Amino acid sequence: MNPYEFDTLAVRAGTARSQFNEHSEALYLTSSFVFGSAAQAAARFSGEEPGNVYARFSNPTVTAMQERLAALEGAEACVATASGMSAILSLAMATLKAGDHVVASTGLFGATQQLFGTILSKFGIETSFVAATELDAYRAAVTPRTRLFFVETPSNPLTEVIDIAAVAEIAHAAGALFAVDNCFCTPALQRPLELGADVVVHSATKYLDGQGRVLGGAVAGAKVVVDEVLKFLRTAGPSISPFNAWVILKGLETLRIRMEAQSATSLNLARWLEHQPGVVRVFYPGLASHPQHALAMRQQKSGGAIVSFEVAGGRERAWQVVDATQMISITANLGDTKTTITHPASTTHGRISAEARAAAGIGEGLLRVAVGLESIEDLRADLARGLGA
Ligand SMILES: *Cc1c(COP(=O)(O)O)cnc(C)c1O
Repeated sequence: MNPYEFDTLAVRAGTARSQFNEHSEALYLTSSFVFGSAAQAAARFSGEEPGNVYARFSNPTVTAMQERLAALEGAEACVATASGMSAILSLAMATLKAGDHVVASTGLFGATQQLFGTILSKFGIETSFVAATELDAYRAAVTPRTRLFFVETPSNPLTEVIDIAAVAEIAHAAGALFAVDNCFCTPALQRPLELGADVVVHSATKYLDGQGRVLGGAVAGAKVVVDEVLKFLRTAGPSISPFNAWVILKGLETLRIRMEAQSATSLNLARWLEHQPGVVRVFYPGLASHPQHALAMRQQKSGGAIVSFEVAGGRERAWQVVDATQMISITANLGDTKTTITHPASTTHGRISAEARAAAGIGEGLLRVAVGLESIEDLRADLARGLGA
């Protein structure tokens, strides 16, 4: 379909030059577009003539970003949104109605869990959360009203890997749409559409921008689904700012190089952590000790850039490791060139009950490191200080 390789598409797809023949993609900061005549305005509004009308619907910079991301995911179509959460909300609003049922994996991003578990349930959309890696649990959760399967792989923070092709088969046998949140791997490491997913959603805020500058999101995949999402977006308005789309468009150009470098450093760090004093367990799909290592190596190009590990001594010891860092950023954000460290039990997962946390495997000694582009030696030294204390 597309004549170019991934690396070429990352820098070339979606490029459309204006009359000035600029080499780098232009940023169009305009909320509306003018027409040559009343007849043209009417044709644009009715959709009879393709073209831009108003930036809630489309904008050339946003279109360029959508086309580039679609090319990288191997998607028929893509629509960008204001944030990752608005991408997931828009997908749900476009594809579900009251009475419908969703099957979702546990270990979803916290806000996604809230969206399905509390917000959508107010509108009569029920969600069953199933153990991420148990295929029988997905099958058992299906009801005659099931319309959507939603998973995130690898999961956060325990990096559980879900068999995308196997879940796709279960979802399609149930007549449901299958969506994968591809935020953690990005199309540089994992292409869910090739494995049978109907759509992918993204928090472009993370690796697609990659430098922690802007919020953004996207839904990419089958055109019939993306068109419905676009209809919702045009009306309800969680559209992306052209500026943010431009930042993400340029971020995509270095996506594969960043993901590979951050992934390589992560594997190195994970292997080192396995031999550090006080480290009980390391969670990283690239390690042979990971329960779904073989699946991860089949489904992903590499392990990704999230490494979690459990220290003996619970919260006190975990906080010591965090507080002993001098360079790594103490923040829950991820997908940045700067490495971050977080204690999930007291931050991202702090609002759920201790029992629910324990059931999800998120202990008081668990730490999550989102690995950036710094040197491995400096990262080890920054963590060794707290681990050796
Ligand atoms: C951050 C994140 C989201 C939400 O994205 P925002 O851009 O913050 O709205 C969704 N899914 C995953 C996996 C994330 O990490």
